[in-house]
Amino acid sequence: MNAPRTYLDHNATAPLRPAARDALLAALEVVGNASSVHAEGRRARGLIEDAREQVAALVNARPAEIVFTSGATEANNWVMTAGWDAVLVSGIEHDSVLAPARASGARVIELPAGADGTVAVETVAAQARESAGAMGRAIVTLQRANNETGALQPVAETAAVARAHGLCVHTDAVQAVGRHAVDFAALGVDALSLSSHKIGGPKGVGALVVRDGVRLPPFIVGGGQERRRRAGTEDVAAIAGFGAAAAAAQKDLERTGRITALRDRLEQEAVSIAPQAVVIAGQTARLPNTTCLALPEQSAEVLVIKLDLSGIAVSAGAACSSGKVGQSHVLTAMGIAPDLARAAIRISLGWNSTEADVDAFLRAWGEIAGSAARKRAVA
Ligand code: PMP
Repeated sequence: MNAPRTYLDHNATAPLRPAARDALLAALEVVGNASSVHAEGRRARGLIEDAREQVAALVNARPAEIVFTSGATEANNWVMTAGWDAVLVSGIEHDSVLAPARASGARVIELPAGADGTVAVETVAAQARESAGAMGRAIVTLQRANNETGALQPVAETAAVARAHGLCVHTDAVQAVGRHAVDFAALGVDALSLSSHKIGGPKGVGALVVRDGVRLPPFIVGGGQERRRRAGTEDVAAIAGFGAAAAAAQKDLERTGRITALRDRLEQEAVSIAPQAVVIAGQTARLPNTTCLALPEQSAEVLVIKLDLSGIAVSAGAACSSGKVGQSHVLTAMGIAPDLARAAIRISLGWNSTEADVDAFLRAWGEIAGSAARKRAVA
């Protein structure tokens, strides 16, 4: 019999929500191509437009501002390669922002993060002031919440400053959407990326929200889909699942206190079991679901394997880059000492997390941290 598993890696990907699964399976039965004019085509089109409304509602955007993509990696690549002369990018962005920005040929100005895991608005303002006029077509990109620490970034304030200097603004809101209220209109940004699988929808689908009136050359051409903004026959089933997940995630936003309470108990008890443990960015305004926890003198990879053997799924740094074991560029950019950064694991809760999950984690943590403490006493 398989041992029970405890999944605490929602920032890597969230389990599929039942409503998303139902919508996805039902949509697989729809034969039409959404571009066809016959009844079958119109049925597929209807599912896509319903999903567009559900996703728009989750982030307070207009349905026409939602462009479905294959995920946030595509959305981020699209924005970063749109022919900018200069890109102001924070050092704690996801690789799917950093890599295309660096490869785009634009002048890349990196914005440093502080030890609290946030980028200060003043840093952006100083760069924008210094370079306004000299930068040509420029964009600032700042994530809404960090995938490793959960630290919330001052996106609305940054957007106000950047736009006052004539810069465009993009935010990667992948980790914030569905976990914290994200209001596209109120943030005042030109574009926002989000991903279905982080909110309990299927993988391989996401969206770029593009403010009405903002012109972005299409990233993928060769078809009139998505109002000529993203060519290619739509993945109707994935989009329908994404829409259903968005609707369910929006309901869950009313009870994020439940997740905060679970996360806070996990952190408090983990530190009381192992007083040497450090919660990175623990004093910063954060997402309710994320903990970046370091157990000094334990390598994060070893910790992740030991927890895995005890039935607990967490990750060391960003899961998207795992397989490649190395130090997190996010923690490095925050100036965290290399020894501590190498010891940091990420625990992330979500829509189906329970007190029993926290209990299971703490039991395993107690055994692992306890044996580490015993070894230190013997040494
Ligand atoms: N941005 C952030 C902050 C992420 O955490 C991720 C996923 N790890 C992405 C972008 C990429 O999203 P997707 O998996 O939809 O390509």
